[in-house]
Amino acid sequence: YMPVPTADTRLPRLPDFVLVVISDLTEQRRLERMRTDFVANASHELRTPLASLAGFIETLQGPAREDPEARDRFLQIMFEQAGRMRRLIDDILSLSRIELKAHVKPANKVDLVEIARHTSDALAPLARELGMEIKTHFPDVETMVVGDRDELIQVAENLVENALKYGSNGKHIDVTVTASQGGPNSPGAMLSVRDYGEGIAEEHVPRLTERFYRVDVDSSRALKGTGLGLAIVKHILTRHRSRLEIDSTVGKGSEFRVRFPSADAMALADGVPSSER
Ligand code: ADP
Repeated sequence: YMPVPTADTRLPRLPDFVLVVISDLTEQRRLERMRTDFVANASHELRTPLASLAGFIETLQGPAREDPEARDRFLQIMFEQAGRMRRLIDDILSLSRIELKAHVKPANKVDLVEIARHTSDALAPLARELGMEIKTHFPDVETMVVGDRDELIQVAENLVENALKYGSNGKHIDVTVTASQGGPNSPGAMLSVRDYGEGIAEEHVPRLTERFYRVDVDSSRALKGTGLGLAIVKHILTRHRSRLEIDSTVGKGSEFRVRFPSADAMALADGVPSSER
């Protein structure tokens, strides 16, 4: 702050304030780098199925033209590649939509049990297809958390789908909801998705929520993964002031847990006075 005498009108008037902006360029550069990496990775991921489509079109125009059996097989592969491109685009769009959103408002309350039940029912057919069962462990009471229902369903779906896909050498998975005890210092409610599959080696665990990170690219592709599922989960949870906890042991399986802060703690973090909570 610079007090500037202004009585003498012969002098040019200087500004009353000087505002100095010191921004963290390292952080800006890191974010910029993440953005360019993302664009490069996304383009690469989309190019792979596109190149495959172009290759099959060429074959169908040439050698496979008169071979109905080859034609049917190639058309099926092309259909799957188009599906892969659609999934990638859907995931990229969800990720960018979520990134633009602010924290969930403390007034938005949803029942975690209803979300977990809805997800388990929706994914029961996939479980059956993989020869697995989804066992649910829910409290009898409503378990209210601050959240966006559609986004939390997406979190639960991504976690349950992964448990089914990567845990399919087990016989079942467990989906558990633990109720909150209430109060600003209570641990809040919890959603846990546990599988008894191959597990994840320790060095991969911290990187799982990175965009396009996959432990085994070929098996993940074969299981229709985009490598964006857990990045989407992480972004949604950030909006919910929650984090993903991962415990995994190779050969034994994995547990993915989400702990939701109590509604009071969310309101406190948002600066909402207690009279309005
Ligand atoms: P994807 O679409 O490939 O499944 P995700 O972001 O959902 O992408 O997961 C990233 C990677 O984490 C997966 O490719 C897989 O290697 C690993 N992964 C996720 N969930 C599990 C799990 N329950 N068990 C073992 N590995 C898992």
